[in-house]
Amino acid sequence: MFAELELYGHEQVAFCSDPQVGLRAIIAIHDTTLGPALGGTRMWHYATDAEALTDVLRLSRGMTYKAAVAGLNLGGGKAVIIGDPHTQKTEMLFRSYGRFVETLRGRYITAEDVGTTVRDMEWIRMETRYVTGVAGDHGSGDPSPYTALGVYVGITAAAKTVFGSESLAGKRVAVQGAGNVARNLVTQLRKDGAQVVITDIFEDKARAVCTELGAEYVEPDAIYDIECDIFSPNALGAILNDTTIPRLRCAIVAGGANNQLADEERHARMLIERGILYAPDYVINAGGLINVTSEIEGWSRQQVTRKVESIYDTLLRIFRMASDSRIATIDASNRIAEERIAHVRHIHRTYIGTPAIRNS
Ligand code: NAD
Repeated sequence: MFAELELYGHEQVAFCSDPQVGLRAIIAIHDTTLGPALGGTRMWHYATDAEALTDVLRLSRGMTYKAAVAGLNLGGGKAVIIGDPHTQKTEMLFRSYGRFVETLRGRYITAEDVGTTVRDMEWIRMETRYVTGVAGDHGSGDPSPYTALGVYVGITAAAKTVFGSESLAGKRVAVQGAGNVARNLVTQLRKDGAQVVITDIFEDKARAVCTELGAEYVEPDAIYDIECDIFSPNALGAILNDTTIPRLRCAIVAGGANNQLADEERHARMLIERGILYAPDYVINAGGLINVTSEIEGWSRQQVTRKVESIYDTLLRIFRMASDSRIATIDASNRIAEERIAHVRHIHRTYIGTPAIRNS
């Protein structure tokens, strides 16, 4: 296990067990150089504990990079609760989990993720201050509209790079997933006059988007074969792999899902070989993180919106750097993140530990 932690540079992993309420959770803190480790709590029915550990390690590392590239003063962390989010949620489960978060004394701050909601965050908040994304006066609420705004401006930056214009009028976009992020994204895409094809493993969710916003429904597996300008993954991770990449018929992949590349190096290369521009997932989907950060930094709605919209410029910079240096876009963004962390670590080394000077 320690070899796995060392491989990706994780600082700390906490295993949380409370059999009385059925809690089995893992909290992973990847890197706190830039600030406290912030990242959502995912609830998922993992087949094995090992699968849950791999997921939380991968996701927490992604949060370090996401915060670094978004210019936030936050480290990277993530948590998973092992269980079925449809049948196993109780107030006591989340309150118990909240107590474990509290024991980390702010080294880890949690938020919503797949399988958890604002209500769950309210339960966690009964036991700890270290939670963001709660409703009402205490919090910034549902982050997905801001995630969707970031994905939308990111798609326009990719369109500018590939087609020479950021206009999406008449462009065909294939959207995977019809959840919170996708619904907000499709609203904006339709406003711009884009044609949307959408799918979800829950057909009724995708059909509801089609009826409400005017999109075309396809079966989940057919989404990879759709001839389109932009493929936008907004469901789960690892969907860009050996099987799916050869099937894609798009010029751009740009969507909100985390960890889209099954194998970061190989699949980024496969996309380049196919002539497809990839908007790195953790850069384009940072809007939700920026929104919850407002709770820590005290930003106004306007400041949050401006900061989320800056994802447009960040992506243009990454696309340019990748093209100039002949590297994958994910490598360009990793480089930006790693340089920022290294520089801040250097500043810490310079100042922390200076002895106090007493004149008496
Ligand atoms: P969500 O749970 O509301 O929606 C996900 C949807 O994907 C669900 O409707 C689900 O049925 C569907 N789905 C799952 N597997 C599928 C498959 N194989 N094919 C088609 N549909 C499938 O989640 P969300 O909040 O919309 O987030 C979507 C993605 O974006 C996730 O990967 C999440 O980690 C990422 N993300 C979300 C936020 C946010 O603010 N909500 C922030 C950053 C990243």
